[in-house]
Amino acid sequence: MFYTSRYMKKREVLELAKEFYDENQIAELEHAIDFATEKHKGQKRKSGEPYITHPLAVARTLIEWDMDIDSVLAGVLHDTVEDTSATLEDIENLFGRDVAFLVDGVTKVSQARAGMRDLGSYLPQTKDNLSKLLIAVGQDVRVIIIKLADRLHNLQTLRYMPPEKRTKIARESLEVFAPLADRLGMGRVRMQIEELAFSHLDPKEFKHLQNLMKKRLGKSTRKLGTVRVEVERELAKHNIKFEINGRVKSIYSLYKKLQKVNGNIDDIYDLMALRIIVRDNETCYRVLGILHSMYQPMIARIKDYIAVPKPNGYQSLHTTVITPSEQIVEFQIRTQEMHDWAERGLAASFHYHAQKSTKDYTKSKNAAALPAELQWITQMQEIAVRLREGEEISQDQLNIDLFGNRIFVYSPKGDIYNLPEGALPLDFAYLVHSDIGKHAYSFRVNGNIHAFDKPLHNGDVVEVITRKLSLPRSDWQELVTTSHARAKLRMQLRKLGLIEAVSGAAAIIREKAARKKPAKAKD
Ligand code: MN
Repeated sequence: MFYTSRYMKKREVLELAKEFYDENQIAELEHAIDFATEKHKGQKRKSGEPYITHPLAVARTLIEWDMDIDSVLAGVLHDTVEDTSATLEDIENLFGRDVAFLVDGVTKVSQARAGMRDLGSYLPQTKDNLSKLLIAVGQDVRVIIIKLADRLHNLQTLRYMPPEKRTKIARESLEVFAPLADRLGMGRVRMQIEELAFSHLDPKEFKHLQNLMKKRLGKSTRKLGTVRVEVERELAKHNIKFEINGRVKSIYSLYKKLQKVNGNIDDIYDLMALRIIVRDNETCYRVLGILHSMYQPMIARIKDYIAVPKPNGYQSLHTTVITPSEQIVEFQIRTQEMHDWAERGLAASFHYHAQKSTKDYTKSKNAAALPAELQWITQMQEIAVRLREGEEISQDQLNIDLFGNRIFVYSPKGDIYNLPEGALPLDFAYLVHSDIGKHAYSFRVNGNIHAFDKPLHNGDVVEVITRKLSLPRSDWQELVTTSHARAKLRMQLRKLGLIEAVSGAAAIIREKAARKKPAKAKD
């Protein structure tokens, strides 16, 4: 799965690119490679290899992810503005505005990173840098995809770094880049980042779990083979066209799962799963039915992520069954398109919608018009704007908004909204529209009256009942969790004269003063 950084040559990249792009695009790519090679001349990676091997590796990854040619060109050029004499104007003149825009975004993210290294402490400059990162992401999500390819190669060559730097980069990868990949639905990249980062952060534990896994798999693989043959025979009998293969749990997700089940590997049922890929949605459900007629399903473990996708867009049917020989086997059933999304996420959609991609994934005025799995991009940008305007947003709040688990909820009409886990009904109301929040009178969730202080759950259908004369109250501040809802609410409360209008600086001073007093119930 991990290719090591072999000496990456121009010819190899061009050869690979020929499978994906037309002649003109290949010529442009060659031009970009020659330009970057010239600019990086004399520079070396920590591994001792010429620097150009790094941008070439990044470009190669982007080609493998099936990205559009502008992203690949930006991948080749991504370090030229930051690390060489090249300017953004040079890039724009030679390769056009779009490529320059992407390179600029990647450069900004790199600069922002400097301030994000220490996520534990929240310093003023962190805020500024993070805000740059958010602005870069909000404008074009391809910037983050290029950045992920960049990070992946840096992790693949991390062993050449001094130990202290290694740990920093590995931790940052786990805390920032893996969740970002997950948020983009890029499951395979997330896993690659996690495996590499974890193997550097805790090499002993990584080795230990690797061995544990090996022993376990050795025992179960043969048994699983029998199940697989049975399933293949049964599906063929029903004239179903399918592909079947085994998927092994990653070491890092095993590590996280073990912590949940108090370290007992016997409680983990999906060390190895069988994955069945079929033609269309209906066939997925037919296969599920066939499996359940063959084996006893564990009811609580049946998951329909086709009807209710995961917040990052992941779709599949999951089921865990018990065979007559008492073996527990997990199955994942999905279409090819779902599989591509699960592996490559947003990057896969650049392939499916190649023509209209650029506009679709740049900022949109209307959050609800974006597919639900992309709404967080708009939310990020809103946060960026508010940070720029001097609003104080704590690191905790940012973590909730950006890196926490997400849920999907639905309006009665079926529109999908993406919220952080633990969100309350008012968060939903303010996300739909600030006026809906303003006049919220009561809530109905899945048809039942729902209290203001009761969290929403994934898949909930939420109806906001509004009354024209109903207005926000200051105690609502305890009933919102997202910074979006909080900001809208505070603005309304200020207009209604229910809270003081204070500047960001005054608020901090006041807060500090308040902290010195005996603690009140909440901060
Ligand atoms: Mn780089």
